[in-house]
Amino acid sequence: MKRILVTGGAGFVGSHLCERLLKEGNEVICLDNYFTGSKRNIEHLMDHHYFELVRHDVTSPYMIEVDEIYNLACPASPVHYQYNPIKTTKTSVMGAINMLGLAKRVKAKILQASTSEVYGDPTVHPQKESYWGNVNPIGLRSCYDEGKRCAETLFMDYHIQNQVKIKIIRIFNTYGPRMHPQDGRVVSNFIVQALKGDDITIFGDGLQTRSFQYVDDLVEGTVRMMNSREGFLGPVNIGNPNEFTMLQLAQEVIDLTGSKSKLTFKPLPQDDPMQRQPDISLAYKELNGWEPKVQLKEGLRHTIEYFDNLLKEGY
Ligand code: NAD
Ligand code: UDP
Repeated sequence: MKRILVTGGAGFVGSHLCERLLKEGNEVICLDNYFTGSKRNIEHLMDHHYFELVRHDVTSPYMIEVDEIYNLACPASPVHYQYNPIKTTKTSVMGAINMLGLAKRVKAKILQASTSEVYGDPTVHPQKESYWGNVNPIGLRSCYDEGKRCAETLFMDYHIQNQVKIKIIRIFNTYGPRMHPQDGRVVSNFIVQALKGDDITIFGDGLQTRSFQYVDDLVEGTVRMMNSREGFLGPVNIGNPNEFTMLQLAQEVIDLTGSKSKLTFKPLPQDDPMQRQPDISLAYKELNGWEPKVQLKEGLRHTIEYFDNLLKEGY
């Protein structure tokens, strides 16, 4: 049995990861400041003998004896990370310093949840890990993108300078049950709008693309990365290469919900990337043939069911 710290464990991805790690027989400490996460996401784990919840902010140091750390704490949706951009950068940068410092002291292995946003608005398509990206350092998205880029730098330097055992994954757009219904991300927005019969908001012309990964595939890739061979640090892309335009996504959601919602077009936010698609050949090679198993239709069905229940409960 390993003792594992999951920062951001009460969030969307973190809650699924805690669940998985407990199922594998580990002891899990979930650390969160509840900025975008909630106790509701981990309510079903509370009675588990080996689950512990800690209210803490990663911008302050934290001490605990653990074998592994998954560092997920950071708001992930543009609406949430732009709410207090200075805090977002602090969370990524100071959070990385504090968690790496902890890993160094207790000799824990630590995994960083980085993002496809490190590629910015990419000029190379699909994106391989060797691509350095095209990020605006002073735009609306910079607090998130640059914070995550700096965290990757810190991870590498702690490894080189202090021999900390690190792993870095770059996560591409991920969706599934327990996404925050008001977090403004496209999948949750479209589903909630469709279920309520509201207009579906397309930003720009809707021809921009994203590649959507179901959360179970991400969790599988994340755990495999933590357990990958010692010399493999990443960064490694974890995403689903199937690429869709926002118009295609809207149509899929309308078809699956049987909604009468109409499309409405809104301005495209600043620095909104035009296209995004992971090259996952490195993950396939290094993570024992890892590749996504859940395709969009099936993943959307599960997610629609989740939001449908949430709305019926009057959330
Ligand atoms: P989320 O917002 O649901 O989860 C983030 C969690 O971190 C929340 O529970 C929040 O309360 C917590 N948190 C935020 N700031 C904190 C702080 N200062 N101290 C302690 N806890 C804090 O988002 P998510 O989608 O679950 O994302 C999890 C991680 O994966 C994030 O690091 C995110 O950047 C990364 N990621 C997610 C996606 C995606 O599409 N979901 C894509 C790329 C990267
Ligand atoms: N988007 C949209 N309507 C919405 C929310 C988002 O058309 O109601 C678009 C957004 O402009 C972007 C894409 O969907 O092009 C994905 O947005 P999201 O915020 O989910 O993720 P990110 O931009 O960080 O990849």
